[in-house]
Amino acid sequence: MRTSNIALRLGLFVVLAATSVALGQTKELTASEQSYREARRVLDAGLAAYGGLDALRTIENFTIRHEGYTGHRNQSRRTDAPYERTPLGGLLIVEPRRGRVYHTNKGSYPGGFNWHWGIMTNGREAARVTFLERRINSTQALPPQFMRGRLRWLPHNLLISALERAVQLRSMGRANYDSRPHDVLTYATEDGAQLTIYLDARTHLVSKFELLGSDPYFGDSVQEIIFPAHRPVGKFQVPTARVTKILGEVVEEIPYAEVTFNTTYGDEQFKAPEGFIAPAAATAEAPPFAKLAEQVYMIRGGGYNVLAVGFADHAMVVETPGGDATSREVIARVKELLPGKPIRYAAVTHHHDDHAGGIRTYIAEGATVVTTPGLRAFFERVAAARNFTLQPDTLTRAARPLVLETLQNGKRVFTDGTQTVELYDIGSGPHMDEMIVAYLPKEKIIFQGDLLNRPEDGHLAPGNATTAHFADWLKKSGLAVERIVGVHGPVSTVDELHKAVALMQN
Ligand SMILES: [Zn+2]
Repeated sequence: MRTSNIALRLGLFVVLAATSVALGQTKELTASEQSYREARRVLDAGLAAYGGLDALRTIENFTIRHEGYTGHRNQSRRTDAPYERTPLGGLLIVEPRRGRVYHTNKGSYPGGFNWHWGIMTNGREAARVTFLERRINSTQALPPQFMRGRLRWLPHNLLISALERAVQLRSMGRANYDSRPHDVLTYATEDGAQLTIYLDARTHLVSKFELLGSDPYFGDSVQEIIFPAHRPVGKFQVPTARVTKILGEVVEEIPYAEVTFNTTYGDEQFKAPEGFIAPAAATAEAPPFAKLAEQVYMIRGGGYNVLAVGFADHAMVVETPGGDATSREVIARVKELLPGKPIRYAAVTHHHDDHAGGIRTYIAEGATVVTTPGLRAFFERVAAARNFTLQPDTLTRAARPLVLETLQNGKRVFTDGTQTVELYDIGSGPHMDEMIVAYLPKEKIIFQGDLLNRPEDGHLAPGNATTAHFADWLKKSGLAVERIVGVHGPVSTVDELHKAVALMQN
Protein backbone atom coordinates (compact mmCIF):
# COMPACT_ATOMS: atom_id res chain seq x y z
CA MET A 1 0.00 0.00 0.00
CA ARG A 2 2.66 2.45 1.12
CA THR A 3 5.00 1.57 -1.79
CA SER A 4 2.30 2.06 -4.42
CA ASN A 5 1.29 5.40 -2.90
CA ILE A 6 4.84 6.65 -3.01
CA ALA A 7 5.25 5.41 -6.57
CA LEU A 8 2.10 7.23 -7.58
CA ARG A 9 3.24 10.47 -5.99
CA LEU A 10 6.75 10.13 -7.35
CA GLY A 11 5.16 9.72 -10.79
CA LEU A 12 3.18 12.88 -10.37
CA PHE A 13 6.26 14.71 -9.19
CA VAL A 14 8.22 13.61 -12.28
CA VAL A 15 5.41 14.90 -14.48
CA LEU A 16 5.46 18.24 -12.65
CA ALA A 17 9.22 18.49 -12.94
CA ALA A 18 9.19 17.57 -16.64
CA THR A 19 6.54 20.18 -17.34
CA SER A 20 8.55 22.95 -15.76
CA VAL A 21 11.69 21.89 -17.67
CA ALA A 22 9.76 21.88 -20.95
CA LEU A 23 8.46 25.36 -20.25
CA GLY A 24 11.91 26.60 -19.31
CA GLN A 25 12.55 29.89 -17.54
CA THR A 26 9.38 31.55 -18.80
CA LYS A 27 7.09 29.35 -16.77
CA GLU A 28 5.64 31.06 -13.72
CA LEU A 29 5.01 28.74 -10.81
CA THR A 30 1.40 28.42 -9.82
CA ALA A 31 0.44 29.19 -6.24
CA SER A 32 0.15 25.49 -5.41
CA GLU A 33 3.58 24.70 -6.92
CA GLN A 34 5.20 27.55 -5.03
CA SER A 35 3.51 26.58 -1.82
CA TYR A 36 4.42 22.92 -2.24
CA ARG A 37 8.08 23.68 -3.06
CA GLU A 38 8.46 25.91 -0.03
CA ALA A 39 6.78 23.28 2.16
CA ARG A 40 9.01 20.57 0.72
CA ARG A 41 12.13 22.59 1.50
CA VAL A 42 10.98 22.97 5.12
CA LEU A 43 9.95 19.32 5.34
CA ASP A 44 13.30 18.07 4.05
CA ALA A 45 15.14 20.29 6.53
CA GLY A 46 12.94 18.89 9.29
CA LEU A 47 13.63 15.28 8.34
CA ALA A 48 17.36 16.03 8.28
CA ALA A 49 17.14 17.66 11.74
CA TYR A 50 15.50 14.56 13.23
CA GLY A 51 18.33 12.31 11.99
CA GLY A 52 17.76 12.00 8.24
CA LEU A 53 15.10 10.06 6.35
CA ASP A 54 17.30 6.99 5.73
CA ALA A 55 18.17 6.64 9.41
CA LEU A 56 14.58 7.34 10.50
CA ARG A 57 13.44 4.53 8.22
CA THR A 58 15.56 2.07 10.20
CA ILE A 59 13.35 2.63 13.26
CA GLU A 60 11.38 -0.58 13.69
CA ASN A 61 9.77 0.47 16.96
CA PHE A 62 9.83 3.11 19.64
CA THR A 63 9.03 2.93 23.34
CA ILE A 64 7.94 5.90 25.45
CA ARG A 65 7.52 5.75 29.20
CA HIS A 66 5.51 8.81 30.09
CA GLU A 67 4.49 10.46 33.34
CA GLY A 68 2.49 13.64 33.66
CA TYR A 69 -0.98 14.91 34.45
CA THR A 70 -4.43 15.47 33.06
CA GLY A 71 -5.95 18.97 33.29
CA HIS A 72 -9.67 18.37 33.66
CA ARG A 73 -11.20 20.90 31.30
CA ASN A 74 -15.01 20.43 31.42
CA GLN A 75 -14.42 17.65 33.98
CA SER A 76 -13.37 19.65 37.05
CA ARG A 77 -15.36 20.83 40.02
CA ARG A 78 -14.61 24.31 38.73
CA THR A 79 -16.09 25.56 35.47
CA ASP A 80 -13.04 27.70 34.70
CA ALA A 81 -9.27 27.26 34.67
CA PRO A 82 -7.18 26.46 36.62
CA TYR A 83 -8.64 22.97 36.45
CA GLU A 84 -8.00 20.06 38.74
CA ARG A 85 -4.95 18.06 37.81
CA THR A 86 -4.52 14.33 38.34
CA PRO A 87 -1.42 12.22 37.64
CA LEU A 88 -1.26 10.37 34.35
CA GLY A 89 1.35 7.80 33.40
CA GLY A 90 1.89 4.92 31.07
CA LEU A 91 3.91 3.03 28.52
CA LEU A 92 3.62 3.29 24.76
CA ILE A 93 5.25 0.89 22.29
CA VAL A 94 4.67 1.39 18.58
CA GLU A 95 5.94 -0.96 15.89
CA PRO A 96 4.33 0.33 12.71
CA ARG A 97 5.59 -2.13 10.07
CA ARG A 98 4.32 -5.11 12.03
CA GLY A 99 1.15 -3.31 13.05
CA ARG A 100 1.98 -3.81 16.72
CA VAL A 101 1.00 -1.29 19.42
CA TYR A 102 0.94 -1.53 23.20
CA HIS A 103 -0.32 1.38 25.28
CA THR A 104 -1.17 1.49 28.96
CA ASN A 105 -2.32 4.54 30.82
CA LYS A 106 -3.14 5.10 34.45
CA GLY A 107 -4.99 8.11 35.80
CA SER A 108 -8.25 9.35 37.28
CA TYR A 109 -11.10 11.79 37.12
CA PRO A 110 -11.72 13.98 40.18
CA GLY A 111 -13.84 12.18 42.74
CA GLY A 112 -12.05 8.82 42.91
CA PHE A 113 -12.72 7.70 39.33
CA ASN A 114 -9.45 5.79 38.99
CA TRP A 115 -8.67 4.02 35.77
CA HIS A 116 -5.82 1.98 34.39
CA TRP A 117 -6.39 0.75 30.89
CA GLY A 118 -4.37 -1.04 28.28
CA ILE A 119 -4.84 -1.27 24.53
CA MET A 120 -2.77 -3.77 22.62
CA THR A 121 -2.64 -5.29 19.16
CA ASN A 122 -0.19 -7.63 17.48
CA GLY A 123 -1.55 -6.69 14.06
CA ARG A 124 -3.96 -9.64 13.98
CA GLU A 125 -5.66 -9.64 17.38
CA ALA A 126 -6.47 -6.71 19.63
CA ALA A 127 -7.59 -6.22 23.22
CA ARG A 128 -8.75 -3.38 25.43
CA VAL A 129 -8.22 -4.25 29.06
CA THR A 130 -8.67 -2.73 32.49
CA PHE A 131 -5.90 -3.62 34.94
CA LEU A 132 -7.89 -2.62 38.04
CA GLU A 133 -10.51 -5.27 37.40
CA ARG A 134 -8.23 -7.59 35.42
CA ARG A 135 -10.79 -7.65 32.63
CA ILE A 136 -10.69 -7.70 28.85
CA ASN A 137 -13.40 -5.28 27.79
CA SER A 138 -13.20 -5.85 24.05
CA THR A 139 -11.27 -7.78 21.43
CA GLN A 140 -12.53 -5.67 18.53
CA ALA A 141 -9.94 -4.74 15.92
CA LEU A 142 -8.50 -1.26 16.42
CA PRO A 143 -9.19 1.36 13.76
CA PRO A 144 -6.18 2.52 11.67
CA GLN A 145 -6.47 5.93 13.38
CA PHE A 146 -5.27 4.31 16.58
CA MET A 147 -1.84 3.51 15.13
CA ARG A 148 -1.66 6.87 13.31
CA GLY A 149 -2.46 8.81 16.47
CA ARG A 150 0.16 6.96 18.48
CA LEU A 151 2.80 7.48 15.77
CA ARG A 152 2.34 11.23 16.20
CA TRP A 153 3.79 10.97 19.73
CA LEU A 154 7.15 11.33 17.97
CA PRO A 155 6.96 14.25 15.54
CA HIS A 156 9.38 12.83 12.97
CA ASN A 157 6.50 10.47 12.10
CA LEU A 158 4.39 13.50 11.23
CA LEU A 159 7.06 14.57 8.77
CA ILE A 160 7.32 11.09 7.21
CA SER A 161 3.54 10.98 6.95
CA ALA A 162 3.55 14.44 5.32
CA LEU A 163 6.19 13.22 2.87
CA GLU A 164 4.09 10.21 1.95
CA ARG A 165 1.20 12.57 1.31
CA ALA A 166 3.35 15.21 -0.41
CA VAL A 167 0.68 15.89 -3.05
CA GLN A 168 -1.31 17.51 -0.24
CA LEU A 169 1.61 19.28 1.35
CA ARG A 170 1.51 23.09 1.37
CA SER A 171 3.39 25.90 3.05
CA MET A 172 1.57 28.38 5.24
CA GLY A 173 4.60 30.64 5.41
CA ARG A 174 6.17 31.94 8.59
CA ALA A 175 4.52 32.46 11.95
CA ASN A 176 5.73 33.40 15.38
CA TYR A 177 5.17 30.82 18.07
CA ASP A 178 6.62 30.88 21.57
CA SER A 179 8.43 34.12 20.55
CA ARG A 180 10.40 32.31 17.82
CA PRO A 181 9.94 32.31 14.04
CA HIS A 182 8.49 29.07 12.67
CA ASP A 183 7.96 27.61 9.21
CA VAL A 184 4.41 26.34 9.01
CA LEU A 185 3.30 23.38 6.90
CA THR A 186 -0.08 21.82 6.40
CA TYR A 187 -1.30 18.56 4.91
CA ALA A 188 -4.42 16.42 4.98
CA THR A 189 -4.09 13.16 6.90
CA GLU A 190 -5.44 9.75 5.91
CA ASP A 191 -8.29 10.44 8.35
CA GLY A 192 -9.33 13.55 6.45
CA ALA A 193 -8.06 15.87 9.17
CA GLN A 194 -5.98 18.91 8.25
CA LEU A 195 -2.77 19.03 10.28
CA THR A 196 -0.75 22.20 10.65
CA ILE A 197 2.87 21.72 11.71
CA TYR A 198 5.12 24.42 13.17
CA LEU A 199 8.84 23.83 12.64
CA ASP A 200 11.31 26.06 14.45
CA ALA A 201 12.96 28.12 11.69
CA ARG A 202 16.38 27.76 13.31
CA THR A 203 16.43 24.11 14.52
CA HIS A 204 13.87 22.74 11.99
CA LEU A 205 12.35 20.66 14.81
CA VAL A 206 8.59 20.50 15.36
CA SER A 207 7.36 22.81 18.12
CA LYS A 208 3.73 21.85 17.73
CA PHE A 209 0.97 20.71 15.44
CA GLU A 210 -2.62 21.85 15.36
CA LEU A 211 -6.03 20.53 14.43
CA LEU A 212 -9.20 22.55 14.09
CA GLY A 213 -12.37 21.21 15.64
CA SER A 214 -15.58 22.23 17.31
CA ASP A 215 -16.21 22.34 21.05
CA PRO A 216 -19.83 21.57 22.05
CA TYR A 217 -19.90 24.51 24.49
CA PHE A 218 -17.84 27.18 22.73
CA GLY A 219 -17.66 26.25 19.03
CA ASP A 220 -14.58 26.68 16.84
CA SER A 221 -11.61 25.37 18.75
CA VAL A 222 -8.02 24.63 18.01
CA GLN A 223 -6.29 21.65 19.52
CA GLU A 224 -2.54 22.11 19.88
CA ILE A 225 -0.10 19.28 20.50
CA ILE A 226 3.06 20.98 21.73
CA PHE A 227 6.57 19.54 21.95
CA PRO A 228 8.23 22.08 24.28
CA ALA A 229 11.81 20.95 23.66
CA HIS A 230 13.88 18.16 22.14
CA ARG A 231 16.85 16.08 23.24
CA PRO A 232 18.99 13.56 21.40
CA VAL A 233 18.45 9.82 21.79
CA GLY A 234 21.20 8.08 19.82
CA LYS A 235 21.28 9.74 16.40
CA PHE A 236 17.69 10.95 16.66
CA GLN A 237 15.97 13.98 18.18
CA VAL A 238 12.98 13.27 20.42
CA PRO A 239 10.64 15.61 22.31
CA THR A 240 11.01 16.00 26.06
CA ALA A 241 7.23 16.09 26.52
CA ARG A 242 3.88 16.27 24.82
CA VAL A 243 1.45 18.99 25.92
CA THR A 244 -2.13 19.13 24.67
CA LYS A 245 -4.12 22.36 24.71
CA ILE A 246 -7.73 22.91 23.72
CA LEU A 247 -8.82 26.51 23.23
CA GLY A 248 -5.54 27.50 24.83
CA GLU A 249 -6.12 25.46 28.01
CA VAL A 250 -3.78 22.63 28.99
CA VAL A 251 -5.70 19.34 29.14
CA GLU A 252 -2.66 17.05 29.28
CA GLU A 253 1.01 17.49 30.01
CA ILE A 254 3.08 14.37 29.55
CA PRO A 255 6.84 14.52 30.01
CA TYR A 256 8.56 11.61 28.26
CA ALA A 257 10.49 9.96 31.09
CA GLU A 258 12.26 7.59 28.71
CA VAL A 259 12.38 7.07 24.95
CA THR A 260 14.10 4.11 23.32
CA PHE A 261 14.33 2.77 19.80
CA ASN A 262 14.43 -0.74 18.34
CA THR A 263 13.88 -2.71 21.51
CA THR A 264 13.19 -6.41 20.86
CA TYR A 265 9.70 -7.45 21.90
CA GLY A 266 8.06 -10.85 21.71
CA ASP A 267 4.51 -11.30 20.48
CA GLU A 268 3.34 -11.72 24.11
CA GLN A 269 3.97 -8.00 24.72
CA PHE A 270 1.12 -7.17 22.36
CA LYS A 271 -1.46 -9.57 23.79
CA ALA A 272 -3.88 -9.21 26.69
CA PRO A 273 -2.24 -10.29 29.96
CA GLU A 274 -2.77 -13.90 31.06
CA GLY A 275 -5.61 -14.63 33.43
CA PHE A 276 -7.73 -11.58 32.65
CA ILE A 277 -11.51 -12.14 32.56
CA ALA A 278 -12.67 -12.60 28.98
CA PRO A 279 -15.14 -10.07 27.56
CA ALA A 280 -18.84 -10.75 27.98
CA ALA A 281 -20.39 -12.48 24.98
CA ALA A 282 -21.36 -9.86 22.45
CA THR A 283 -24.16 -8.07 24.28
CA ALA A 284 -27.03 -6.82 22.17
CA GLU A 285 -26.75 -3.10 21.60
CA ALA A 286 -28.76 -1.16 24.18
CA PRO A 287 -32.24 -0.38 22.80
CA PRO A 288 -32.82 3.26 21.74
CA PHE A 289 -35.12 3.80 24.72
CA ALA A 290 -36.68 2.00 27.67
CA LYS A 291 -40.08 2.74 29.17
CA LEU A 292 -39.54 2.93 32.93
CA ALA A 293 -43.14 3.82 33.83
CA GLU A 294 -46.15 5.62 32.36
CA GLN A 295 -44.80 8.83 30.77
CA VAL A 296 -41.28 8.06 32.00
CA TYR A 297 -38.56 7.03 29.55
CA MET A 298 -34.84 6.43 29.58
CA ILE A 299 -33.62 7.49 26.13
CA ARG A 300 -30.26 6.43 24.64
CA GLY A 301 -28.29 9.04 22.74
CA GLY A 302 -24.60 9.11 21.88
CA GLY A 303 -24.01 6.20 24.28
CA TYR A 304 -25.59 8.09 27.23
CA ASN A 305 -28.92 7.77 29.05
CA VAL A 306 -31.30 10.72 29.29
CA LEU A 307 -34.48 10.84 31.40
CA ALA A 308 -37.66 12.12 29.73
CA VAL A 309 -40.84 12.70 31.72
CA GLY A 310 -44.26 13.64 30.33
CA PHE A 311 -46.47 16.07 32.24
CA ALA A 312 -50.05 17.04 31.27
CA ASP A 313 -49.05 19.57 28.62
CA HIS A 314 -45.26 19.47 28.40
CA ALA A 315 -42.18 17.32 28.76
CA MET A 316 -39.09 17.57 30.92
CA VAL A 317 -35.67 16.18 30.09
CA VAL A 318 -32.99 15.49 32.67
CA GLU A 319 -29.42 15.52 31.32
CA THR A 320 -28.25 16.88 27.96
CA PRO A 321 -25.05 14.89 27.27
CA GLY A 322 -22.64 14.90 24.35
CA GLY A 323 -23.33 17.68 21.91
CA ASP A 324 -25.75 19.02 19.33
CA ALA A 325 -26.10 15.78 17.33
CA THR A 326 -26.93 13.71 20.42
CA SER A 327 -29.43 16.31 21.61
CA ARG A 328 -31.16 16.41 18.24
CA GLU A 329 -31.45 12.62 18.29
CA VAL A 330 -32.86 12.61 21.84
CA ILE A 331 -35.27 15.49 21.17
CA ALA A 332 -36.65 13.65 18.11
CA ARG A 333 -37.22 10.59 20.32
CA VAL A 334 -38.95 12.67 23.03
CA LYS A 335 -41.33 14.07 20.40
CA GLU A 336 -42.12 10.56 19.23
CA LEU A 337 -42.64 9.10 22.73
CA LEU A 338 -44.39 12.12 24.27
CA PRO A 339 -46.22 13.58 21.25
CA GLY A 340 -47.63 17.06 21.48
CA LYS A 341 -45.63 17.86 24.61
CA PRO A 342 -43.03 20.56 24.07
CA ILE A 343 -39.87 20.23 26.15
CA ARG A 344 -40.36 22.98 28.70
CA TYR A 345 -37.46 22.08 31.02
CA ALA A 346 -33.98 20.70 30.51
CA ALA A 347 -32.26 19.98 33.80
CA VAL A 348 -28.63 18.90 34.11
CA THR A 349 -26.95 17.04 36.98
CA HIS A 350 -23.68 18.96 36.55
CA HIS A 351 -21.73 20.86 33.87
CA HIS A 352 -19.29 18.18 32.63
CA ASP A 353 -19.47 17.87 28.86
CA ASP A 354 -20.61 14.24 28.93
CA HIS A 355 -23.61 15.46 30.96
CA ALA A 356 -24.45 18.92 29.63
CA GLY A 357 -22.48 19.26 26.34
CA GLY A 358 -25.76 19.22 24.37
CA ILE A 359 -27.44 22.00 26.40
CA ARG A 360 -27.39 24.55 23.56
CA THR A 361 -29.80 22.49 21.47
CA TYR A 362 -32.38 22.57 24.28
CA ILE A 363 -32.01 26.35 24.55
CA ALA A 364 -32.81 26.52 20.83
CA GLU A 365 -35.75 24.19 21.49
CA GLY A 366 -37.15 26.76 23.92
CA ALA A 367 -36.56 24.75 27.09
CA THR A 368 -35.77 26.43 30.39
CA VAL A 369 -32.37 25.27 31.63
CA VAL A 370 -32.45 24.09 35.26
CA THR A 371 -29.19 23.95 37.18
CA THR A 372 -27.55 24.89 40.48
CA PRO A 373 -26.66 28.51 41.41
CA GLY A 374 -22.92 27.89 41.04
CA LEU A 375 -23.25 26.93 37.38
CA ARG A 376 -25.38 29.88 36.26
CA ALA A 377 -22.50 31.99 34.97
CA PHE A 378 -21.03 29.04 33.06
CA PHE A 379 -24.25 28.22 31.23
CA GLU A 380 -24.80 31.92 30.49
CA ARG A 381 -21.43 31.94 28.77
CA VAL A 382 -22.22 28.72 26.90
CA ALA A 383 -25.54 30.13 25.71
CA ALA A 384 -23.86 33.35 24.57
CA ALA A 385 -21.10 31.58 22.57
CA ARG A 386 -21.30 32.69 18.94
CA ASN A 387 -18.16 31.25 17.41
CA PHE A 388 -19.69 28.19 15.74
CA THR A 389 -18.52 28.66 12.14
CA LEU A 390 -16.88 25.25 11.60
CA GLN A 391 -19.91 23.27 12.72
CA PRO A 392 -22.87 25.63 13.11
CA ASP A 393 -25.07 24.00 15.76
CA THR A 394 -28.83 24.26 16.18
CA LEU A 395 -28.60 27.31 18.45
CA THR A 396 -26.39 29.07 15.92
CA ARG A 397 -28.88 28.43 13.14
CA ALA A 398 -31.92 29.30 15.29
CA ALA A 399 -30.75 31.71 17.98
CA ARG A 400 -32.88 32.00 21.09
CA PRO A 401 -32.22 33.73 24.41
CA LEU A 402 -31.34 31.61 27.42
CA VAL A 403 -34.01 31.07 30.06
CA LEU A 404 -32.38 29.64 33.18
CA GLU A 405 -33.62 28.69 36.63
CA THR A 406 -31.52 27.54 39.56
CA LEU A 407 -32.51 25.39 42.50
CA GLN A 408 -33.33 27.45 45.57
CA ASN A 409 -32.37 25.94 48.91
CA GLY A 410 -31.27 22.79 47.15
CA LYS A 411 -34.66 21.63 45.90
CA ARG A 412 -37.22 22.23 43.16
CA VAL A 413 -40.46 20.30 42.62
CA PHE A 414 -42.14 20.01 39.22
CA THR A 415 -45.68 18.66 39.32
CA ASP A 416 -48.97 18.78 37.48
CA GLY A 417 -50.81 16.95 40.24
CA THR A 418 -50.33 13.56 38.58
CA GLN A 419 -46.70 13.49 37.56
CA THR A 420 -43.99 14.73 39.89
CA VAL A 421 -40.25 15.21 39.51
CA GLU A 422 -38.24 16.48 42.46
CA LEU A 423 -34.76 17.85 41.84
CA TYR A 424 -32.30 17.83 44.73
CA ASP A 425 -28.83 19.26 45.03
CA ILE A 426 -27.00 16.59 47.01
CA GLY A 427 -24.33 19.15 47.94
CA SER A 428 -20.58 19.09 47.88
CA GLY A 429 -19.10 15.67 47.18
CA PRO A 430 -15.84 14.33 45.80
CA HIS A 431 -16.89 14.94 42.15
CA MET A 432 -18.67 18.33 42.29
CA ASP A 433 -19.55 21.13 44.73
CA GLU A 434 -23.17 21.03 43.55
CA MET A 435 -24.81 17.96 42.03
CA ILE A 436 -28.43 17.50 41.02
CA VAL A 437 -30.36 14.23 41.15
CA ALA A 438 -33.94 13.78 39.90
CA TYR A 439 -36.37 11.84 42.07
CA LEU A 440 -39.74 10.48 40.91
CA PRO A 441 -41.65 9.69 44.15
CA LYS A 442 -44.56 7.82 42.50
CA GLU A 443 -42.23 5.55 40.50
CA LYS A 444 -39.53 5.34 43.22
CA ILE A 445 -36.90 6.16 40.61
CA ILE A 446 -33.82 8.28 41.12
CA PHE A 447 -31.86 9.55 38.12
CA GLN A 448 -28.21 10.51 38.59
CA GLY A 449 -25.02 11.30 36.70
CA ASP A 450 -21.61 9.92 37.74
CA LEU A 451 -22.79 8.92 41.22
CA LEU A 452 -23.08 5.25 40.26
CA ASN A 453 -21.42 4.51 36.93
CA ARG A 454 -21.96 0.99 35.68
CA PRO A 455 -20.04 -0.61 32.80
CA GLU A 456 -22.21 -1.11 29.72
CA ASP A 457 -21.95 -4.92 29.93
CA GLY A 458 -23.80 -4.72 33.25
CA HIS A 459 -21.21 -6.33 35.54
CA LEU A 460 -21.02 -4.78 38.97
CA ALA A 461 -17.81 -2.80 39.22
CA PRO A 462 -16.45 -1.34 42.46
CA GLY A 463 -17.75 2.13 43.25
CA ASN A 464 -15.58 5.08 44.31
CA ALA A 465 -15.58 7.97 46.76
CA THR A 466 -18.32 9.67 44.73
CA THR A 467 -20.50 6.53 44.86
CA ALA A 468 -20.02 6.24 48.63
CA HIS A 469 -20.96 9.90 49.10
CA PHE A 470 -24.15 9.36 47.07
CA ALA A 471 -25.07 6.20 49.03
CA ASP A 472 -24.66 8.19 52.24
CA TRP A 473 -26.79 11.04 50.96
CA LEU A 474 -29.49 8.67 49.73
CA LYS A 475 -29.70 7.00 53.13
CA LYS A 476 -29.95 10.34 54.94
CA SER A 477 -32.50 11.69 52.44
CA GLY A 478 -35.05 9.08 53.48
CA LEU A 479 -36.31 8.90 49.87
CA ALA A 480 -38.00 5.63 48.94
CA VAL A 481 -36.02 4.37 45.94
CA GLU A 482 -36.31 1.11 44.00
CA ARG A 483 -34.48 1.89 40.78
CA ILE A 484 -31.37 3.99 40.20
CA VAL A 485 -31.13 5.20 36.63
CA GLY A 486 -27.74 6.50 35.55
CA VAL A 487 -26.38 8.50 32.64
CA HIS A 488 -23.65 5.86 32.27
CA GLY A 489 -24.65 2.17 32.27
CA PRO A 490 -27.70 0.04 33.00
CA VAL A 491 -30.47 0.62 35.55
CA SER A 492 -29.47 -0.51 39.08
CA THR A 493 -31.14 -1.37 42.35
CA VAL A 494 -30.30 0.22 45.69
CA ASP A 495 -28.84 -3.15 46.65
CA GLU A 496 -26.44 -2.92 43.70
CA LEU A 497 -25.44 0.58 44.84
CA HIS A 498 -24.53 -0.81 48.26
CA LYS A 499 -22.65 -3.72 46.69
CA ALA A 500 -20.64 -1.31 44.53
CA VAL A 501 -19.65 0.62 47.67
CA ALA A 502 -18.79 -2.62 49.49
CA LEU A 503 -16.65 -3.82 46.57
CA MET A 504 -14.69 -0.59 46.75
CA GLN A 505 -14.10 -0.88 50.49
CA ASN A 506 -12.79 -4.45 50.26
ZN1 LIG B 1 -18.85 14.29 35.89
